[in-house]
Amino acid sequence: MVSNRLPVTLQRGPRGLESKRSVGGLVSALDPLLRRRGGSWVGWPGTRLRDDETLDETGSEYGLHAVALTDTEVNRYYHGFSNRTLWPLFHSLPERARFDRRDWEAYERVNARFAEASTQRLDPSRPEHNLVWVHDYQLMRTPTGIRKLCPEARIAFFLHIPFPPPDLFRLLPWDRELLQGLLGADLIGFHVAGYARNFLECVDRLLGARVDHEASLIEFGSRTIRVGAFPLGIDFARYQSLAEQAAPATRAGRERIILGVDRLDYTKGIPNRLRAFERLLELHPEYREQVILLQIAVPSRSQVAEYQALKREIDEIVGHVNGRFATASWSPIRYLYRSFPQERLAALYRDADVTAVTPLRDGMNLIAKEFVACQVDDPGVLVLSQLAGAAERMPEALLVNPHDLDGSAEALHRALSMDEPERRSRMLALRRRERRFDLDAWGDHFLEAARTPEAPLGLVRPEEFEAWLGAFVEGHPLALFLDFDGTLAAIAQRPEEAAMTAGMRSAIETCAKRADTEVTIVSGRGIDDLEAAVGIPGLTYAGNHGFEIRGPELEDFRHAELAGFAAGARELIPKLEALAPDGAWIEAKGPTLTFHFREVEPALHAELARNARSEVEAAGFRARDGKYAVEARPPIAWDKGSALLYILRHRYGEAWSESVRAIYVGDDQTDEDAFRMLAGLGFTFRVGEFSGLTEARRLLRDPEAVEQLLSWLARRPASSP
Ligand code: UDP
Repeated sequence: MVSNRLPVTLQRGPRGLESKRSVGGLVSALDPLLRRRGGSWVGWPGTRLRDDETLDETGSEYGLHAVALTDTEVNRYYHGFSNRTLWPLFHSLPERARFDRRDWEAYERVNARFAEASTQRLDPSRPEHNLVWVHDYQLMRTPTGIRKLCPEARIAFFLHIPFPPPDLFRLLPWDRELLQGLLGADLIGFHVAGYARNFLECVDRLLGARVDHEASLIEFGSRTIRVGAFPLGIDFARYQSLAEQAAPATRAGRERIILGVDRLDYTKGIPNRLRAFERLLELHPEYREQVILLQIAVPSRSQVAEYQALKREIDEIVGHVNGRFATASWSPIRYLYRSFPQERLAALYRDADVTAVTPLRDGMNLIAKEFVACQVDDPGVLVLSQLAGAAERMPEALLVNPHDLDGSAEALHRALSMDEPERRSRMLALRRRERRFDLDAWGDHFLEAARTPEAPLGLVRPEEFEAWLGAFVEGHPLALFLDFDGTLAAIAQRPEEAAMTAGMRSAIETCAKRADTEVTIVSGRGIDDLEAAVGIPGLTYAGNHGFEIRGPELEDFRHAELAGFAAGARELIPKLEALAPDGAWIEAKGPTLTFHFREVEPALHAELARNARSEVEAAGFRARDGKYAVEARPPIAWDKGSALLYILRHRYGEAWSESVRAIYVGDDQTDEDAFRMLAGLGFTFRVGEFSGLTEARRLLRDPEAVEQLLSWLARRPASSP
């Protein structure tokens, strides 16, 4: 279990470090779960640890692993990016969100630290036990960090707050990074289906990963990721039994009670609720001296100015309403600014006539559920904001829009005047559902899903190509640019072994035969080698990363500055050979070369690449990482993107983008130059196993998917001449 806070908080007292149980919804939900199942919890202990201090795990029913954070990190990662950026934005309150790059950088750093700490708790000898469950918005970059360190681990993530729709999510300057961070997980859970839909929509639109919206699956590189709704439940039996045993909450009341219980947070809609109650007293004077609003506000983030301002606002409204309506023997609002133990809350829930849960936005809201569990006598009525996640599965509550004061006041009136049969019917239905879908059921359901591997998505369907490309290609000639290795032919141990399937060859040929389609093959290979490997006459070839171009209606092109680098490349060969262990070899391509190490023992790859890069750079060449390879290229401002633009301009003229549609399909880092070049001008695909961020518009799993794309393009209706 990995969450921002550990279930224990350390405090520095006179006798050194003392630990006490943390408060908060997440801890109270997950602690019983981990206690029953065993495991470890990784999190921040809430205070700074000195180097010689460790967390005392004795007496704990599960392992505890503290992630140490500096004060600056806590400020930027936690108070900053988590609470001042993500919290308001994800609750659909973007005007409250602050965007600060330094906060983001701290978030990124701290998330990497959490990932590292989590993998330290994994047992390499029992892979089936290696399930890491990461929680909530503070740790959205942690799954990808864990995946990097431990590719085989099962990783699940659950978001305890809402996930916003794309138009809001896109306000975040690091939107794609967050999505990619989450996609390190195998399962990504949300409270309700609407949040899962928003997330899938964002992944589809912003990352270009393939999404099966109906099955709720994402294809990201070679991995399949499940996304689902897992509405959090509560420990129903415990609340029920607390309610059965608790002493009366208040003195045998003369007044009826509307109860509000919230953390003091601007998402909870406390001012709106107080005003709705004021409205009730205006519209229905019969409730004066008969009803009180008992509002509990639990202090939260009280060092933040915004929360202090909210507290002042609430104080003022309470003063205003009480001043306006109070009599010598009655005050309409009883306001308690502190937290209560569960036993006391249970009594309050049980004895309330109405509980008003009216957040402006809330991931789920457990107060609504706890209230329901505590209705062991004469049942009360739940008034619930339709903007709380809980509302999706509590239709029997009186649902309100918290922004509608009159509507909320009327709902309070209806709740106070509801007769017993209706109250019982509604509460019975609510209680049955919450009893059945309780905390345990939630944990079982989630963990079951987390342990079940997903089958890969099937072949890309024509409707998908239609949705991505239909409008773009319709009625236009096409200039198709295809990288070879990894795109048209699966990567082989040695370049000479790489070959296209018969289906691929025929799809390319069919495309090339069309009068409205030109096909160019682009590659890092030398141009003669490339032409021989593809072996389809009549195509255009751009070899050596585009330094050499040959094709119909084009003058043969060879970059003018290229010749000057052949000698330098020759001299580089023995230097790289000196580095090369068995299995590494050099592909000499005149003025460029590639140092291959696919067959070398994987443990040596990183160091080999580092050394090769520094040799390449020392020789005055540019080094670029390929797949199990380092490329050496002359330091000329020319790449696959420039070559593509050269071809388009020479073949179709300056205004090429008006007469032809350009599509580029490639699989590695050198293709990113072409993706960048075509951004906004054409359409681009990145192919293959890949878990980073690409400039390409869409991702395709493998050459087989490219073949389907080409077949689809080959079959498209002819463009008008
Ligand atoms: N809570 C508590 N003491 C209080 C008020 C609230 O222990 O005085 C608990 C409450 O029982 C519930 C949690 O705080 O389990 C609030 O969870 P919710 O999902 O409603 O809101 P959050 O604070 O997580 O936004």
